[in-house]
Amino acid sequence: MSAVDFHQILGLPQGASAAEIKRAYRRLAMRWHPDRNPDPQAHDQFRLVREAFERLIQAASPSPGEAPPQTGSPEPRRPKGEDRRMEISLGLAEAARGCSVTISVESRSACSDCEGSGKRSYGRTTMCGACHGSGRIRGANGLSACQTCAGKGFTTDCRCPGCEGRGWLPANRQLDVRIPPGLLPGEEVRVTGQGGPAPQDGEPGDLYLRLSIDPHPLFRLEHLDVHVQVPVSIFRLLAGGQIEVPTLDGIREILLPEAFTEPRFRLTGAGYPGRGARSPGDLIAHFETQLPRFLTKEQKAMLDMAEQVFQHQLDDQNPTLARWQATLETHR
Ligand SMILES: [Zn+2]
Ligand SMILES: [Zn+2]
Repeated sequence: MSAVDFHQILGLPQGASAAEIKRAYRRLAMRWHPDRNPDPQAHDQFRLVREAFERLIQAASPSPGEAPPQTGSPEPRRPKGEDRRMEISLGLAEAARGCSVTISVESRSACSDCEGSGKRSYGRTTMCGACHGSGRIRGANGLSACQTCAGKGFTTDCRCPGCEGRGWLPANRQLDVRIPPGLLPGEEVRVTGQGGPAPQDGEPGDLYLRLSIDPHPLFRLEHLDVHVQVPVSIFRLLAGGQIEVPTLDGIREILLPEAFTEPRFRLTGAGYPGRGARSPGDLIAHFETQLPRFLTKEQKAMLDMAEQVFQHQLDDQNPTLARWQATLETHR
């Protein structure tokens, strides 16, 4: 017996997938099983079905070390409504923490006038406008039956006036959706079954919510790092000590070392939260050095004193300036 016959026995096209073969076998085995089917031929037919199944499934299943055959068509799916997309914009902190949003989705409700049938029980009869009720129209060949009313002179409108024959009415539905924490702009949340309506014998499409993040007055998101501008007094930068830095989780105190000259400070892991295998980003504070608009007498005296000490220890405290002083001497 050739392979073609095996396919015929199971009622399958050539190149049917393993899943299709299994499904066809289950259906036919059920029909021809001698315990269920009193037909005298059932026994033979059942054996034939099983043999066809065993041969075909062997050919369709990949042997170890071999790529699965690509001849099989994909398993047929139930028809599905269209997928829909919607943009949602969140604040940076909300998106970082995750939140719940209420969205309004277009949907349909069955028309109550016609209980979803789109028809009314008694048709509304109106005089045909095309032939003015005569049922005939004068053309090039004289009078002929009116096409619009099929010569009756009137038309009967059976459409439900409530829904204009559609059987449904547009309705907006409020939907609460949980947005998981740490989603990045452009990433999507799938809301199963909230897309386009289900076709006949199918399931509705899905709704995809694509995230965008509103600009924040303090923070700027760059991939997973959160950047923030922090004005800091020049005296604090020189003396070192604690300063306050805002993060998405609130204020953090950081301890600056003395004579901190870097324009930025990185707080590892304090940026945008991670998600799954994605690690959290960093918080990067950009310092904006703030100078006093004027100095008090005391401040000036203290700074003069600091400068004097500095000049006495230039070799240790600032070799660049020490070398510069030496260069000036050679030009004197
Ligand atoms: Zn209706
Ligand atoms: Zn007519």
